[in-house]
Amino acid sequence: MKSLNWPLIISTWNFGAKANRVAWETLTRGEDPLDAVEKGINVVEKDPDVTSVGYGSIPNTDGYVELDAAIMSGPTHKAGAVAALKEIATPISVARKVMEKTNSVLLVGDGALKFALKNGFKRVTLLTEKAKEKWLKRKNQERVKKVDDNHDTIGLVLLDSRRNIYAGCSTSGLAVKISGRVGDSPIIGAGLYVDNEIGGVAATGTGEQIMMFCGSFLIVENMRRGIPPQEACDAVIKRMASKGQKEWVGFIALNKEGQYGAASLEKEFPYAIYCKKGEAIQKSKVCE
Ligand code: ASP
Repeated sequence: MKSLNWPLIISTWNFGAKANRVAWETLTRGEDPLDAVEKGINVVEKDPDVTSVGYGSIPNTDGYVELDAAIMSGPTHKAGAVAALKEIATPISVARKVMEKTNSVLLVGDGALKFALKNGFKRVTLLTEKAKEKWLKRKNQERVKKVDDNHDTIGLVLLDSRRNIYAGCSTSGLAVKISGRVGDSPIIGAGLYVDNEIGGVAATGTGEQIMMFCGSFLIVENMRRGIPPQEACDAVIKRMASKGQKEWVGFIALNKEGQYGAASLEKEFPYAIYCKKGEAIQKSKVCE
């Protein structure tokens, strides 16, 4: 069982490492842990080389980049999210504003954009030449349901020195997704979930499947029953597999004791950890 002290940050994929670094610096400067989550994720959102999150993402079938993000705070048990948000490079920051400034949890499409602009966010052209090229290539591949390498959400879960838990996630969803499609990431309980007494979870992979199992919520509920994070993730992946689900999914989980784990279906994925002892990239456990 992997066990470390707190604070501890875990994030999905290799790009999680740079999100963790910024989150760690922010946290250890004494800033609000939610700032740490937000600023960490912002780094990946603003990176044009990451074509599955924020600026420079691969667009949907109609050529529009539509972004999804969510944030959740353990101590307040509040969440905020945006879905199908266009023209804003940092959807996690808009999600945080939804959480802190409205009585709503999820704003979508034009309403989310209007809210963002009203709150000082600037319109940007999210589509880069690189993403456009990839999009054209993929469109020609007649992609319907096939899972390919062009989907990866940044999901980050943070346990601070007071043992409070926070999580955030941000994505452009599946590459060349059908226009209007929203994945798991902005759905609380699917793309992420936090219970401050128990732990936090974030997901990556085929959102449809994650949503149909309330994946992140279910893992937190497993942990509530005393199951360690690794086994709690394994159990949900196995349940998906037992019901014949074939699309790729992965989860990272962290509990209040500073234990963590990650599992995925059939194929491993890297995830990044950061703690006092340093940083590392680890591989998820593959379950079938
Ligand atoms: N979960 C994201 C979605 O379905 C994509 C991914 O993480 O690969 O929108």
